[in-house]
Amino acid sequence: MWQDQFRELGQAVGAGIGVSKVDGQDRAFGATFEDLAAFLQRSVPGGYTVDVVRECVCRSCGGKAFEVGVPADGQGARRTCLGCREQHYIADSEEYWEDDGLADYFCGCPCGNEEFAGAVGYSLREDGENVRWIYLGLRCLACGMMRDYVDWKINYGPSLHLVDQA
Ligand SMILES: [Zn+2]
Ligand SMILES: [Zn+2]
Repeated sequence: MWQDQFRELGQAVGAGIGVSKVDGQDRAFGATFEDLAAFLQRSVPGGYTVDVVRECVCRSCGGKAFEVGVPADGQGARRTCLGCREQHYIADSEEYWEDDGLADYFCGCPCGNEEFAGAVGYSLREDGENVRWIYLGLRCLACGMMRDYVDWKINYGPSLHLVDQA
């Protein structure tokens, strides 16, 4: 159970992750990038191992607060910096975008907030030279809830450069 990992992790390294029930489901809460990274690296039954986690940092101003848009097919994500309003695509997300440039929907926390800190988890292929899967984790800046919001498969190479495009 991933919830138990967090209870153990919290005891082992003093991480700020907590688990609470929200609408009958166990949800993880955190306060820092380290918490979000640990959340992305939890083992999920049937899921791939997340080998690398990178924090989302605005490529223009260094800001770390975003709203996050997702295209119609639910693959890929684009983040808008709340500091400078610059938009950047996460990894290869621009490939999935419709030509109109609009996001189909914006990520929203169950608490109603749409402002987040983000981190991208990368699962690498066995060769360590290519990315297999990308997971976008967001931490709500209002209530601290952490969730996987979007994930998508990478089926080409070379693709290790995507690790630098969180
Ligand atoms: Zn910015
Ligand atoms: Zn929230």
